[in-house]
Amino acid sequence: PEGRRGRLQKLREKLSKSSNPFGKALFSILSQDNLTEADWEDVEDTLLLADVGAEASEQLVDRLHTDARITGESDPSKVKEALRSELLNMVGTKTDRRLNADKPDAHRPSVIIMVGVNGTGKTTTAGKLARLFVAQGKSVMLGAADTFRAAAADQLETWGAKVGVPVVRSDKEGADPASVAFEASKRAKEEDVDVLIIDTAGRLQNKANLMDELGKIRRVTEKNLPVDEVLLVLDATTGQNGMAQAKVFAQAIGLTGVVLSKLDGSAKGGIVISVQRELDVPVKLVGVGEGPDDLAPFEPEAFVDGILD
Ligand code: GDP
Repeated sequence: PEGRRGRLQKLREKLSKSSNPFGKALFSILSQDNLTEADWEDVEDTLLLADVGAEASEQLVDRLHTDARITGESDPSKVKEALRSELLNMVGTKTDRRLNADKPDAHRPSVIIMVGVNGTGKTTTAGKLARLFVAQGKSVMLGAADTFRAAAADQLETWGAKVGVPVVRSDKEGADPASVAFEASKRAKEEDVDVLIIDTAGRLQNKANLMDELGKIRRVTEKNLPVDEVLLVLDATTGQNGMAQAKVFAQAIGLTGVVLSKLDGSAKGGIVISVQRELDVPVKLVGVGEGPDDLAPFEPEAFVDGILD
């Protein structure tokens, strides 16, 4: 008999050729008349490949399989419906996903620190987020505390110009990121803006440095203003690696929310489930493109449909 690894490989090949891989795979498995043991394993493997996470995938399929045995119900459309509702449960339909700046008890200025590994879309997300607040009629300031990458402050400045908000930066290359955060929070307070968004660097290569740097950014910012939110930007296309990254940042600075970026380029957003289960931090927003308006609230229903349909 074909081993599990062989079947997983075959499934992976099939998925890589498909344009809507996970939904199609699940659909083809679940559109058979009667589900065999191997079919159930295929469902589990498909969820696994969509990054739902080993523990969650197994738990989910076990539950559905047991239910099907008890009720004698293996009508695929019913199983699919059950799968949808189990996934929705896991993702959490009642979770409060509002940005803290949008809650009635937010401080003013409300401070948001953006963290994440370089390349995940942190600077872009900071720009889009500024746009979102501007659209709500709020005044916004951006702080360029990613002083490691020479182009990062320029990139943030371009975003500032695009969405019409001031950017606090240092002219010195390699300046202390914490000093930029201090300056930005001081100015945000003086100018009494509604929201300050601070962009940071994310070099995972040196974990100790990263933790020191983020800890210091937070401490000096808090000399001026309380920090309402720390948002981790996770690239949806990086799969379970994202989980390891999330743990490092959670430990380094603490997180209040996650932005899942590049969801337009991946159906593998299952990482949402792992992050929420293991870190107990809600996914608040999703990035769906490179433009200023390509940031949307995370909606569990749309997200689950994206995996299933
Ligand atoms: P940073 O190093 O974390 O600050 O990452 P950047 O903000 O520079 O983004 C890295 C690249 O990802 C850029 O080319 C962005 O345009 C792109 N990017 C960011 N967010 C998204 C998204 O939601 N969808 C897509 N397709 N690209 C994105």
